Amino acid sequence: MKPLIAGNWKMNGLCGSVREIEKLIGLFDGAAPDDVEVLVCPPATLVGLFATEFSDEGVGVGGQDCHQNASGAHTGDISAEMLADAGAAYVIVGHSERRADHRETDAEVQAKAGAARRAGLVPIICVGETESERKAGRELEIVGAQLAGSIPADAEEFVIAYEPVWAIGTGLTPTLDDIAAMHDFIRAKTRKDIRILYGGSVKPGNAREILSVQNVNGALVGGASLKAEDFAAIVKAAL
Ligand code: PEP
Repeated sequence: MKPLIAGNWKMNGLCGSVREIEKLIGLFDGAAPDDVEVLVCPPATLVGLFATEFSDEGVGVGGQDCHQNASGAHTGDISAEMLADAGAAYVIVGHSERRADHRETDAEVQAKAGAARRAGLVPIICVGETESERKAGRELEIVGAQLAGSIPADAEEFVIAYEPVWAIGTGLTPTLDDIAAMHDFIRAKTRKDIRILYGGSVKPGNAREILSVQNVNGALVGGASLKAEDFAAIVKAAL
């Protein structure tokens, strides 16, 4: 399975950020390596620009969220069809920041993932427990429920990103044994042929060991994806 290294830029980036991706491609000597799939998920305002500029250089583009409907009276929202039209190939759904900030439920995440498939996008469905849930030993129960509620029944192509909420942007990561246990669990609950990404404080210094854990098929990278040197080092750690 080809590893997928996906950068989640969150609410960061302006048109001038094209230069950061140009720098990234320069660090790969002109094109991203064939053996790793490299994806950047910038704010929606940059999806079309990045897709136009970089689709021939091996850097794919994804959205960070989508509405479940194709069009309609939903001021401020963006549909999966719009992302596809702008050149996206993937869309992140159910990120913990959206689950927390916008109170997104598993049912909404499932509908968004279904909308992504309808538009021909691959949804990256995020799951993960909070710190208190892990302290209470409930991480498998929580993630199991999120998987059951968030994956569309008929989705033939999707990616799961396991992102413990307490590891996002904190510099903390689970032990490698804990990552292996969770990824084995997700594999058993889903399918043999889907990619399961780990996300949460992946950095150049820990990427190689995390990416070598069984059933870790790539990474979803937040902060470290904003700097070309760091993101390139994480991509190279997957080779
Ligand atoms: C994320 O928010 O998807 C993420 C993984 O963030 P960070 O790498 O900054 O922890």
